[in-house]
Amino acid sequence: MGACFSLPAVFLQDNLRYHSPDMPDFDVVVVGAGHNALVTAAYLAQAGYRVGVFERRKVPGGAVSTIDFEGFRFDLGGSAHILIRLTPIVDELELYKHGLEYIELDPIFHASNGQESWFVWRDPGRTAAELDEQYPGQGEAYRRFYAEWLPFAKAVRETFLSTPSPLNLGQKLLLGSGLGRDWQKRLPQILRPYGDVAREYFSEERVRSPLVWMAAQSGPPPSDPLSAPFLLWHPLYHVGGVARPRGGSGGLSLALVRAIEARGGQVHLDSPVQEIKISGDKAVGIRLLDGQSVSARAVVSGSHIQKTLAMLPADKTPEGAKGLRVGNGFGLILRLGLSDKVRYQTHPGDASRIGLGLLITSELQLNRAYGDYLAGEPTRDPPLIAMSFSAVDNTLAPPGGETLWLWAQYYPHRLASGTWETRAAEAREGVIRSFERFDPDIRRKIVAELVQTPLWLENEFAMPAGNVMHLEMSLDQMFMLRPWLGAHNYRFSGLKGLYLTGASTHPGGGIMGASGRNAARVLLKDLSRNRV
Ligand SMILES: Cc1cc2nc3c(=O)[nH]c(=O)nc-3n(C[C@H](O)[C@H](O)[C@H](O)COP(=O)(O)OP(=O)(O)OC[C@H]3O[C@@H](n4cnc5c(N)ncnc54)[C@H](O)[C@@H]3O)c2cc1C
Repeated sequence: MGACFSLPAVFLQDNLRYHSPDMPDFDVVVVGAGHNALVTAAYLAQAGYRVGVFERRKVPGGAVSTIDFEGFRFDLGGSAHILIRLTPIVDELELYKHGLEYIELDPIFHASNGQESWFVWRDPGRTAAELDEQYPGQGEAYRRFYAEWLPFAKAVRETFLSTPSPLNLGQKLLLGSGLGRDWQKRLPQILRPYGDVAREYFSEERVRSPLVWMAAQSGPPPSDPLSAPFLLWHPLYHVGGVARPRGGSGGLSLALVRAIEARGGQVHLDSPVQEIKISGDKAVGIRLLDGQSVSARAVVSGSHIQKTLAMLPADKTPEGAKGLRVGNGFGLILRLGLSDKVRYQTHPGDASRIGLGLLITSELQLNRAYGDYLAGEPTRDPPLIAMSFSAVDNTLAPPGGETLWLWAQYYPHRLASGTWETRAAEAREGVIRSFERFDPDIRRKIVAELVQTPLWLENEFAMPAGNVMHLEMSLDQMFMLRPWLGAHNYRFSGLKGLYLTGASTHPGGGIMGASGRNAARVLLKDLSRNRV
């Protein structure tokens, strides 16, 4: 067993068994310390249960973690905290008391095609007013889009915060305030591809393309039927804002670990789980790679669902779990440490360095990149999300320097020719060339760099195909169908005492923690009724 996050290992070895020999080691053991699993563990510890988390990596948080890198601090996974800001998790778990400090980003987005820039501010009114000045009529379109879809976006958020069921979806999205009185007009729009819906509202491509690019962050391309919700929740960016934990994204995970430990729970790092132990039809604990067994009343797995299935005997894989679609990855990220600040040609001021840079020349650029992906090729000219958060957080870079992280799409995990070992340099070059449109001086400033290919992401996070959402985010794998019908309520079908959380479950990928909270609620109910 590896070291606990903050306490000496010797203490932990003794501490692991602090009860009578007949009692299980923990009430609940949690596999993986991704942020969702940590959220589940924190709620259980808060309710007084004895919780032990076991993670294979040396840092907690899975795809929400930050490391020191050659004098800079680099996030290794997600960086933009958007979805979790729409949940009560931070307040309920009192994460501010455990060291979490959020820095609000305003402007939220800097949109640019390399020739012109415009901004999405936290205030939708200011955003629309500036748009109208720059692109007459588009501010009005923005206002209309915001007003028409805000109720739906809020209803979607409600569905994310509860276990999905037909009743709950119908009530919240269709009958409730979601679609409102205009539901006959709205319903067909929801069923359309998000690229089409964006065209219905915004006639100006320089406004439309960045919004479409942001919607593409969940994976599906703008032409996918039924994908409109990825665009239609845009109004929520104005509601919850976009924020950054001071010190890096991993600040959220560290605060969760502290919250667990402060309530008597344990978080063991460098402790890969080999097997979920079964007795009859009940999960009774785990066996670690080093051979140690840990017993518990219940097991929660927050690892990728395919990794969870691999920890179980093959005959325990339910029928519904056999056709899971992981896809072929979709993003690559280049982390750069710079000796100097980013300087956008179109907007040299500081505002352009704060929010997420939605850097896209046109919708064609995104469509071409998707075409390359379908052909098994890394795109040579990707649209980019640029993040230079050292503009608001001076802990990320040395004085005068900057962190610049460039997320790019689309990149297949399985390539039509070559391997990621042989093609990473070429993909990295494509990202730099694309960014040179915006800051031609970028190469001179690079002093540290890390290329995270889909293969890199797969190996680091145990995320098959490097899919940062775990499973494809398409309607056939959302809501009650995630990961499969029957396990959508966070209970593993066919095995008592085994629970699921994480991006493989509802509501899917992203830094949100909603799955962790929903799973905790289900498990707390079962524990209190002695069902496990
Ligand atoms: C590069 C990148 C950029 C992203 N950008 C954003 C962003 O800006 N905003 C956003 O909202 N989302 C973003 N995302 C997506 C988001 O970070 C993830 O969807 C989310 O963090 C997944 O969290 P999780 O808790 O479900 O699982 P994970 O983070 O995948 O955690 C699963 C954990 O289980 C562990 N594990 C697996 N097998 C075992 C085992 N056998 N024993 C013990 N432990 C095990 C893994 O090591 C891992 O720590 C990004 C992701 C990546 C990778």
